Amino acid sequence: MNHSRVIALDGPSGSGKSTIAKEVAKKLNIVYIDTGAMFRAIGLSASDAGIVFEEGDKLSAFMQSLDLRYGVSKDVLIVANGEDLTSKIREHHVSELASTISKLPTVRTFLLEFQRKLGNATTCVMEGRDIGTVVFADSFCKIFMTASNEVRAKRRLKQLREQGDNEIQLDQIIEDIKTRDERDSGRAVAPLKQADDATKLDTSNLSFDQVLDCICDLAHSRGKELGIKV
Ligand code: C5P
Repeated sequence: MNHSRVIALDGPSGSGKSTIAKEVAKKLNIVYIDTGAMFRAIGLSASDAGIVFEEGDKLSAFMQSLDLRYGVSKDVLIVANGEDLTSKIREHHVSELASTISKLPTVRTFLLEFQRKLGNATTCVMEGRDIGTVVFADSFCKIFMTASNEVRAKRRLKQLREQGDNEIQLDQIIEDIKTRDERDSGRAVAPLKQADDATKLDTSNLSFDQVLDCICDLAHSRGKELGIKV
């Protein structure tokens, strides 16, 4: 089997994937690809354009006409129809839009192609929900990251406070996390689940450096085994 040069990093929201994936990319000198940002950008743009998500034809037409660009520059992660959405997609309400839209097959099909094109072009760490199971099922190194609901909610709260959101409370975030988990795990297409050949990493009681080392070590040893240079 030919393996793709993608480190697939999957797991639920708040498991610490984004922060870790960015550092893994730096340490291994490879590209970082955040697929959640793509679902967020589509959810936000479609909502701003007044598209009703359930109206599949209109949503498809909207996506076909959407000029979506990822990784535009060091500071610009994602642009849709010329608008830089890098900061806006992190607002709390956009998590809900992304989670809702991500269960729609039209959206998943659209982004599947988009993500494969990006991942095939380079050695990268790609984070998401279905990278190891669907998008790059042939990935040479798969990690499924988890953490307890409380730990995940506290991390998310810290991020939101840093972004200036002083309203939302921990209880609300725990509830939102549970709802999103159920939706992500229960959807018919590409649900959130650990790939059979993925290594599970519970980060609840691990330091950032421990998680980072663990992933880099795994990437190195899998790469060595399979003749992939990382
Ligand atoms: O990872 P992030 O929280 O930015 O993802 C936002 C939402 O996008 C998730 O709640 C999930 O529903 C969806 N998503 C997905 N598949 C991915 C990445 C994100 O369904 N590969």
